[in-house]
Amino acid sequence: MRIHSLAVAQSLASLNTSAAGLDAAEAARRLAEYGPNQFEEVRRKHLLLRFAQEFTHFFAIILWIGATLSFVAEHFDPGQGMARLGVAIVGVIVINGVFSFWQEYRAERAVAALRQLLPQKVKVSRGGEIVEVLASDLVPGDVALLEAGDFIAADCRLTEVNGLRVNLSTVTGESLARARDIEASSEESPLHARNVVLAGTSVVAGQARAVVYATGKHTEFGRIAQLTQTAGEASSPLQQEIARLSRLVAFLATGMGLLLFLVGQAMGLPAWENMLFAIGIIIANVPEGLLPTVTLSLAMATQRMARRNALVRHLPAVEALGSTTVICSDKTGTLTENRMSVQSLWIGGAFMPRADLAARPQIVDDHRQLFINAALCHNLKEVGDKGRQTLHGDPMELALVEIGRNTAGDLEGFERLDEIPFDTDRKRMSVLCQTPQGRMLYCKGALETVIAGCRDIQFDAGLAPLDPAARTRLLAAQDEMAGAGLRVLAFAHRAVDAEQPADEQGMTLAGLIGLADPPRAEVPEAVARCAAAGIRIIMVTGDHPRTALAIGRQIGLVRSEQPLLISGEQLRLMSPTQLQLALDAPEILFARVAAEQKMRIVESLKKKGEVVAATGDGVNDAPALKSAHIGIAMGIGGTDVAKAAADLILLDDNFASIVAAIEEGRAVFDNIRKFLTYILSSNIPQIVPFLAFVLFRIPLPLTVIQILAVDLGTDMLPALALGAEKPDPAVMQRPPRARRERLLSWGLIGRAYLFLGVLEAAAAMAIFFHVLDAAGWHYGQQLAGTDPLYLQATSACLATIVVMQVINVVLCRHPQRSSLAYGLLAGNRTLQVAIACELAVIGLILYTATGNWLFGTAPIAATSWLLAAACGLLMWSLEELRKALVRRAQKG
Ligand code: ATP
Repeated sequence: MRIHSLAVAQSLASLNTSAAGLDAAEAARRLAEYGPNQFEEVRRKHLLLRFAQEFTHFFAIILWIGATLSFVAEHFDPGQGMARLGVAIVGVIVINGVFSFWQEYRAERAVAALRQLLPQKVKVSRGGEIVEVLASDLVPGDVALLEAGDFIAADCRLTEVNGLRVNLSTVTGESLARARDIEASSEESPLHARNVVLAGTSVVAGQARAVVYATGKHTEFGRIAQLTQTAGEASSPLQQEIARLSRLVAFLATGMGLLLFLVGQAMGLPAWENMLFAIGIIIANVPEGLLPTVTLSLAMATQRMARRNALVRHLPAVEALGSTTVICSDKTGTLTENRMSVQSLWIGGAFMPRADLAARPQIVDDHRQLFINAALCHNLKEVGDKGRQTLHGDPMELALVEIGRNTAGDLEGFERLDEIPFDTDRKRMSVLCQTPQGRMLYCKGALETVIAGCRDIQFDAGLAPLDPAARTRLLAAQDEMAGAGLRVLAFAHRAVDAEQPADEQGMTLAGLIGLADPPRAEVPEAVARCAAAGIRIIMVTGDHPRTALAIGRQIGLVRSEQPLLISGEQLRLMSPTQLQLALDAPEILFARVAAEQKMRIVESLKKKGEVVAATGDGVNDAPALKSAHIGIAMGIGGTDVAKAAADLILLDDNFASIVAAIEEGRAVFDNIRKFLTYILSSNIPQIVPFLAFVLFRIPLPLTVIQILAVDLGTDMLPALALGAEKPDPAVMQRPPRARRERLLSWGLIGRAYLFLGVLEAAAAMAIFFHVLDAAGWHYGQQLAGTDPLYLQATSACLATIVVMQVINVVLCRHPQRSSLAYGLLAGNRTLQVAIACELAVIGLILYTATGNWLFGTAPIAATSWLLAAACGLLMWSLEELRKALVRRAQKG
């Protein structure tokens, strides 16, 4: 019999379990038998296949063609060293393929490791005690506790419900929330049974208990997961831009190679030799390793962000973070510590500090209902072993329960019967309790919403009608507490006859309690950093406007006398245009807003062209999180649904971590620009020798194999190391990057190609000629490829390019700042190691027999090194001068 057609008791029995759940031993046994509750990963492409793809993409094919042509040339015209070139090109393809594969694999691992940082947990009843277990440890027969915002981790049959509504969109596609109950169902499929909740769906409202009947791939979701899961991640706009760019450059390079081939033919150069140059030009320019390097630097940024408590869920979020212009932030728990403590009370018509409570037993006696309310009206869970149970949940409720239990005295005979749950729209909650005096309804919440259901108010002198004068006194009391930054909760109660509906009407207002929630210590600095970085912070809170304002002032968010304060009520009356205009205000706070209004604010900001990051934790926040460019969920206080909708999860719920992540996001963009400049500069000294050779008929100063040595030997590690640069201290002192700002700006191209590149080329050519000249060479003299002089001259040219690139990498660490100011190589160990490797590689190429044979090189004289160093120093001075001029112009 299918479980949904059984009654609750039978369904529990059919799974050999009870309402108290399985005991730990049985759960462990079942876990071993049924396996973990995991969906099988969609089979990803086999590693070997992905490895093979590294050798068959566009660039690889260009290189394969080059290699084939070289071998063909060797066949028809042996002895020109063409076969060696062919071997070298194949070597390039292999090295490049392996390196790209390694980078991509590392990037993928890094992202996968992040997922492990935040495993999904579920509350279950094991042997009658409520414990938290990993979702993957759920077994059939477990009794799970569900509440709003939870993801359902396995297929379950409901056994108790309270206002439960679930969102089935992941399984059935319908987005409307559906009510669920526990009655046996006659439906054919569990998909339609109202007493079943399925894995992959989520709880929108209410609470429930449910017994797990299917886990892992046996769930409905597990069965369809293969069809619905998308493999891999979408590539980010940045990665797309790089891919486009690389392809464009490759086309241009191919075009240029062909052009040179034709020019050479017209000049009467031997065809095979000519073709060799064409290949050389193409290889010199094709940016083989760019895309994997970008992907890896994005992935490394996610790791750095995780270390700073910001967990990125999708790579594209990294770059969106870097261009954030506005952060819409919650207050409680994000800007403040969510460490609530009761500070003062307003009872009987007067204020009283909490500390005075103990000394005034009479007042406590007169107002006992208020404290009973505080002790009972909550949604906390008792978690842990019997006898050592502790309450878990909202810190505000914990503080209220603490004062309630300590003050109200013995609560024997009080039993909770029902609950009208809290939600951010109603801003209040109630519980129905059996008490020794009969049934009572206890309600607590924001004063505006509680007062609407109250008929009278408890003063010291006794009950009084809640007339306009009393209301005014109440609101004034709330204003005073909120003005001091306290969160104010109102408490009300009434007796309920068994026949009466237990609604929140005709209640007696018992008093107000004000709770302090201190701002997080790191927040004022983070707020100041945002201000310096041109990022606007808009507080969007459910709390009272005055509380919001007071906290805003404490953290330095509000500095002006008259910030714009918009309440949820006012927001409701605003047209989209009015809202958009209001959002121009420099300081703006939204208070008493409902979750769905957050989405309106986000949308409006987006329409204004802002790049919006928005925080949220509840199930109602999910649409706003999805709509924002960067949805940010709380790792500790957030619901599963909010986390699933977010791009970034804060492991510590702390606003300061958002700012840290933005800093890293900005740094990534800068770093990619740094290594682009670095890689592009060396293209010029690779091309110029060919042009000089073709145009002036001089011996070829740099051979194709030597080009490869630079592109894929010496340049690779330093480029990668530039991608790992720490954020520049000034990165948060400039306005956000424009969304449309391209990675490859004209400034960058000019600096790389027309300045640094030209200097490098000039140096390489100068030293090449110096070596020739010193040996008595004269213009027009031909040199054989094996002539020791020729070998030395080309080797000197190669060595110069490497020396210049070593200097260049130091210069590329910042486009404007002096390299002395950041200590040349200080602060980036990877870079230090990379340069050491770079020098070791060139040493091997020039000073070992194998290196000489493979790259057609010979050891060079000390003077060549000295001259190269002098040229490097000159480039360094000129670039420093350029930087100084730019800095001066910026200051001006
Ligand atoms: P933020 O949106 O910045 O996190 P918040 O936590 O105050 O602020 P909500 O959780 O939407 O926002 O709460 C809005 C209001 O509802 C609170 O100011 C409080 O008056 C009331 N409230 C919050 N939690 C409860 C609760 N558990 N029971 C009753 N009322 C509550």
